[in-house]
Amino acid sequence: MLQTVLNKRTRLASLAGLVTLFAAGLAACSPDAGPAGAGPAAGSGEVNVYSARHYDADEQLYSLFEQQTGIRVNRIEAQAPALLDRMAAEGDQSPADVVLLVDAGNYWRAQERGLLAPVESTILSNAIPAHLREPQGHWFGIAKRARVIVYNKASIEPAGIRGYEDLAAPALLGKVCVRPSSNIYNLSLIASLIEAWGEQKTLAWGNSLVSNFGRAPEGSDTDQIKAVAEGGPCQVAIVNHYYLVRLMRSDNAEDRAIADKVGLIFPDQGTIGTHVNISGAAVAAHAPNRDNAVKFLEFLVSAPAQKILAEANDEYAVVAGVAIDNPQLAGLGTFRESQMPLDVYGRRQAEAQRLADRVSWR
Ligand code: FE
Repeated sequence: MLQTVLNKRTRLASLAGLVTLFAAGLAACSPDAGPAGAGPAAGSGEVNVYSARHYDADEQLYSLFEQQTGIRVNRIEAQAPALLDRMAAEGDQSPADVVLLVDAGNYWRAQERGLLAPVESTILSNAIPAHLREPQGHWFGIAKRARVIVYNKASIEPAGIRGYEDLAAPALLGKVCVRPSSNIYNLSLIASLIEAWGEQKTLAWGNSLVSNFGRAPEGSDTDQIKAVAEGGPCQVAIVNHYYLVRLMRSDNAEDRAIADKVGLIFPDQGTIGTHVNISGAAVAAHAPNRDNAVKFLEFLVSAPAQKILAEANDEYAVVAGVAIDNPQLAGLGTFRESQMPLDVYGRRQAEAQRLADRVSWR
């Protein structure tokens, strides 16, 4: 815990430094820098990344891109809502070139606010399956995450839980835990279920799921896994797969002991397929370094970048055929993914929120 706090402090300190550096860099730029690929005017040789991600893997990605291209990467990091508000406030003067967010639901919010520019790139469209990118090129999935079910191996018989639907079964009364519905991961999951099942069935499911809650929704996905391992009221939970892999790979023996007590189910293998979401990348609406931004996106689907995402951040590569060396990730096994186009998660986000409110999934 202390380690986490220290890491956060270090990160904040370095972020403050970066913001300062970044501002200095901006002051040196001509305000007349044209948008969209205006050639070698102000800012050529750099790319400004606005990121809501906060992973060590990203440092490796930025360094490798700088090495390969000589293009300097300047970063602004913040939580997604603050990042998008900042871009909106900056308007057409925004220095943002690349926007890195997680969850297609967040990209939908950015797109709705006019913060993203469409990109046409055969490198991106050839590398990324169509359902993992926005049809007009407003955002692209660069890595995948599965929303899976974890269970306490000592108390739960996994054969009875085949999909999200089974989490609402009477057998799991008082045993299911999940973070709040305001979390975008859950909104996207609900949206996808409305798309797959229709509103009536999803509403009935939501009502029964909430009845099955072992406690009021709280905490992060990692907190759900820890609670399941403890074997208290939470014996089954919905989480993103990489949180479990992170515990499996931890240097801390306590984390590994927690992971040992927990089993993983890829939901809906025989039906709709496991819900999958993305880490993504997009080009900002007013990118002053648009060409470099597109280059950065194309770099993210190169084999070395895909390896970093899957090996350092435990996500799944979006590009087929890249050799990934991550035994714990591979150890989860292969699974059938939902092929639903991810823009659905955004289009049904408001319905998902209303449904969560109606079933009192707080
Ligand atoms: Fe996450």
